[in-house]
Amino acid sequence: LARLWRDECLLNHTRCQRGSNGAEPKLPTRLVDVSDPERPFLQERHTLPRSRPNTQYVALSYCWGQGKKFRTLRDNYEIFKATGIPCFDLPQTFKDAIHAAHSLGYQYIWIDALCIIQDDDGDLENELKNMGDIYRYAELTICAQGAASSHAGFFQSSRHTLSLVPRSVDLRIVSTSRETTVLNPTLTGRFNVKDYLSSRGWILQEDILTLRALKFSDQMSWRCMETIQMETEPHIFRGALYSQENRGTDHVPEPATHTEYSSQDQAICSPDPLRDIFASWYSMIQLYSDMKLTYASDVLRALSGVSAILRDTYRTTYLAGLWNEDLFAGLCWYASANDTRVAFRHTAPSWTWASVGKVRVRF
Ligand SMILES: [Zn+2]
Repeated sequence: LARLWRDECLLNHTRCQRGSNGAEPKLPTRLVDVSDPERPFLQERHTLPRSRPNTQYVALSYCWGQGKKFRTLRDNYEIFKATGIPCFDLPQTFKDAIHAAHSLGYQYIWIDALCIIQDDDGDLENELKNMGDIYRYAELTICAQGAASSHAGFFQSSRHTLSLVPRSVDLRIVSTSRETTVLNPTLTGRFNVKDYLSSRGWILQEDILTLRALKFSDQMSWRCMETIQMETEPHIFRGALYSQENRGTDHVPEPATHTEYSSQDQAICSPDPLRDIFASWYSMIQLYSDMKLTYASDVLRALSGVSAILRDTYRTTYLAGLWNEDLFAGLCWYASANDTRVAFRHTAPSWTWASVGKVRVRF
């Protein structure tokens, strides 16, 4: 089913194509080669075969969570490149992602814990800056939506019947003078999908910049620029993305957000597009300020990919979380009084919302 969704998108979705062709594809510094999913190994960008210029890769979006962290470190980096990553030790979420990428026909996957040398400050600094691009240029992002940690895996033990909620039946009754016709009587159930990703601070940028997302939770779902599909509703409801009634209990991102932020190749329709962009930015910051970050010092970094696109697309000047072109409005932020999270100092100048760290901010 996932392959079907992906192929349909690659072949027939014009908006998704435009998105990927609009910019020169850029590869991450390192990728995990999953040609043999039982023996994955690290490969550096400059060692990839030049004969295949259009190398595509999958990125993984997941929650680190609790438990032992399996990471690439300075000590094991050369081993992971030369002899491979020991599959036996890999957390279940990574194993599942590697198998999913391989089954979908991809040779490379990007996983932050493996593709960034986690005890090398210079490497971390460099790579975290590029996170936006990594998700933006991935052909597909696999999201471990239902996994509370890297050890939980994609597939939860069973689909609990209590998580299945009844859905209203789509009945369209067409009455003519003598006859009544009932159309589209669907009786599928909807899942209340577990979502461990939506509260992560980094997810906002990943979700906005991702062109195609394949999500694993109590059920598998697909989201691209044109469609949202799920196992319980595998039919394509193209063109209906913006209607409120199609957003069920399954967690789906606001497609409008996508249009706003990935619109560097789209026509600007509003008479004052910058005003709309800034307004969307402030709404996004409000949403973002409620999300969690493991390191409060990442507060601006976790948005750097989105801000860079807005800056380059609209030729605006980015000032530590605010915009020079809309500074009067931007400076009117305030930290919500009932927030008990510890503020992080020295992250940004005192006039920006980012200076108070990861606390609830309103404009
Ligand atoms: Zn698509």
